[in-house]
Amino acid sequence: MSEVRVRFAPSPTGSFHIGSARTALFNWLYARHTDGKFVLRIEDTDAARNTEEALEVLFKGMRWLGMDWDEGPEVDGGFGPYFQSQRGEIYKEYLGKLEAAGRTYEKEGAIFFKLEGERYTEFDEYHGKEMEKVRAEPVEIDDAIRGKVVRAETRDFVICRSDGSPTFHFVNVVDDITMKITHVIRGEDHLSNTSKHVELFNAFGVKPPQFAHLPLILKDPKMGKGKMSKRDKGSLIEEYEERHFLPAGVRNAIALLGWNPGDDREFMEIGEIIEAFDIKDIQKGAARFDEAKMAHINFQYLKQLPVESYAWFARPVLTEKGLISEDHNEDHLQRVLMICQEKITSLEALPEFCGYFFRDDYTIDPKAEKKVMKRGNAGELAAQVIASLESVSPDDWNVSGLEAAFTKLAADNGQEKPFMWWPMTRFAVSGVSGGPDFLPMLEVMGRDLVLGRLGKMID
Ligand code: GLU
Repeated sequence: MSEVRVRFAPSPTGSFHIGSARTALFNWLYARHTDGKFVLRIEDTDAARNTEEALEVLFKGMRWLGMDWDEGPEVDGGFGPYFQSQRGEIYKEYLGKLEAAGRTYEKEGAIFFKLEGERYTEFDEYHGKEMEKVRAEPVEIDDAIRGKVVRAETRDFVICRSDGSPTFHFVNVVDDITMKITHVIRGEDHLSNTSKHVELFNAFGVKPPQFAHLPLILKDPKMGKGKMSKRDKGSLIEEYEERHFLPAGVRNAIALLGWNPGDDREFMEIGEIIEAFDIKDIQKGAARFDEAKMAHINFQYLKQLPVESYAWFARPVLTEKGLISEDHNEDHLQRVLMICQEKITSLEALPEFCGYFFRDDYTIDPKAEKKVMKRGNAGELAAQVIASLESVSPDDWNVSGLEAAFTKLAADNGQEKPFMWWPMTRFAVSGVSGGPDFLPMLEVMGRDLVLGRLGKMID
């Protein structure tokens, strides 16, 4: 076990944004890489926004992505409570320390943190009035990603509001101190807060943690310019779950938002990612969300699943669409999926792709219909195929038996190959012009279904 202690410190808002998930993931990966501890701390001081439901969304998203926490809600690690709303006593104690050190004062009911340095007044453009300022010693932040960032605070800031509630900067630092956090890995939007935080660490006489500010996530260029927002497609983790993405695929793609293993690997097992992950390899420049890459990685995961696991994920998707019942025969399900798995890029698209294996009321693609009917001999072809396939016994109803029947059909009609019968047959049994490989499809559908549907074609 290493000394590394990192934390993910969300303020639950009711949705789990991809940016938050990335922050959580990078912390989690770093903890797993270093054999350290991953702490989940809930920054729920804004009571109005922090509802029970908002918390549930967060927990669900964390669990779905497989980011287990070593300490936090429901997992005591000796540094709790892990909800800021329950840490009032600790904040009082730490406020007392600053008071005793003479680093606070009260003004209009609020408590301010007092910077050290020469004081002067100056007209402040932003506030439009004369204000007291401080020539404080610049703070040097040696950010693991951004490099050296130097910034001087110029004004005292509130650490406790007039209603008695402590502010974000104060509780954030007190928690990082009391939870013995060694590395603060968080979004770049917090970089501008860091000099305040370092001032507080210094005032408490505590060495600040190693900071690492993660680059922004920009929109997929196909969706426009600028920072990815909650309204952008693909920005919420809930959405991936609803769309039946594999959590491991989503996690893999999120890991690549601002990090890469130093070579061109994209599809990686979690063990490989953990092994390769390090803060020093996180990029400084903005990361770009890439919807197509997300989908592609998800497909890589889907493709390599053993069919038993694939069926485990697919079953609820097909049940939800009413294509199969909950007790649908597992062997049949797996036989269908086995021939579809390679061809279909997402579970979301699976019902439409394979619905005709399970139900007779599948949709007919008008384009495919037109193509088949155009030649004017569909009924005649169907009759020939029926006659030919009727000669295949139930025992021989497999790829080689079917292949033999079609070869004979072709030969009997002076054809070298049986392909002139295939598009019509495929359309007759599935209503579409594409799908799994043809003969395996017929095998899996079974004799009765295939002959029955060809019969209907004639009608
Ligand atoms: N609650 C803050 C946020 O959600 C945490 C900031 C931090 O990680 O220090 O942005």
